[in-house]
Amino acid sequence: MLQDLLNMHVTQQTFGTMPDGTPIDLFALTNQGGLEARVMSYGGTLVSLRTPDRYGAVADVVLGFDSLPPYLAGHPYFGSLIGRYANRIAHGIFELHGATYHLAQNNGPNHLHGGWKGFDKAIWSACPKISSQGAQVEFSHLSRDGEEGYPGNLHVTVIYTLTDRNELRIDYTATTDRPTVVNLTNHTYFNLAGTGAILDHVLLLAADHFLPVDATLIPTGAQRSVQGTPMDFTLPTAIGARIDADDEQLRFAHGGYDHTWVLRKDRAARSLAAEVYEPASGRVLTVLTTQPGIQFYSGNFLDGSIRGKRGEVYAKHHGFCLETQHFPNSLNEPDFPSTVLVPDETYRSITIYRFDIRI
Ligand code: BGC
Repeated sequence: MLQDLLNMHVTQQTFGTMPDGTPIDLFALTNQGGLEARVMSYGGTLVSLRTPDRYGAVADVVLGFDSLPPYLAGHPYFGSLIGRYANRIAHGIFELHGATYHLAQNNGPNHLHGGWKGFDKAIWSACPKISSQGAQVEFSHLSRDGEEGYPGNLHVTVIYTLTDRNELRIDYTATTDRPTVVNLTNHTYFNLAGTGAILDHVLLLAADHFLPVDATLIPTGAQRSVQGTPMDFTLPTAIGARIDADDEQLRFAHGGYDHTWVLRKDRAARSLAAEVYEPASGRVLTVLTTQPGIQFYSGNFLDGSIRGKRGEVYAKHHGFCLETQHFPNSLNEPDFPSTVLVPDETYRSITIYRFDIRI
């Protein structure tokens, strides 16, 4: 027990400073399984996640940068917390309680990931802790009424915990003082081999349906069966097996996957959403969540123009995201689960990324 406690650490250092001199803290969480997760206060970002492979060799399995400046210069949400609304809202317009709200159209005609300055660019207050669950950092942020066009003062708390079951657990809560809309997620790009393309990773999704999209990646409102399509990951299948198929949905997503899958079962209990196996390293990532959907994005817009950690070139399909969330554009689709949060209610969701090794 004492040994467990000694191996469970959280340390803090300065990662860099903002142009105005504000320091950005970096926290390293470790557990007894030899995992280490680093998160920083800028964007509540997961900066690195080091896990052993089947031979005990440790590698960083998430995309990002070695220092703060490239995070500030702009990037496609590597490891970021996303809010207020993860994913797209058609034309940046929604109605709530009789009022019409206009949000930034920062992705073609649509609103994406909270606008020009979403939660990925906020400086979060941070509190490191050791709990009975493991080493933790609790991030909190107040998004003010009207920020990025959204109504209500929204208080958000996100707790990262590295447990001794080799899980990175993320607990999200939010409250508001006016009716508003909330859809929170984390936008980590994984690469379980630590480098190269992710096309050999074998994926299972606990979903029989996905949300077909239009050419601007807004769901049509339908829920389509995955059966007989390249979207079928009900059995473990290599990500690259059908990624080049002649399929309109893959074309709309710029040559790959960038869709929401409708997760099976009652999401009140956290249950299996996805499992990814990387054959060369033996690493297995299991995703559990209370959320109704998961956006599987196969890094289609990575184009080699970004150099990340260790100078690595992030080319197309060099990382994948499994963003647990409510459905895109829910406010404009009455049949989608609600993303409205009202005063006196608390938004809660949990997502767990668990790491195992297959021999
Ligand atoms: C979206 C992609 C987008 C990526 C980075 C994902 O969540 O679905 O379309 O390119 O985020 O912005």
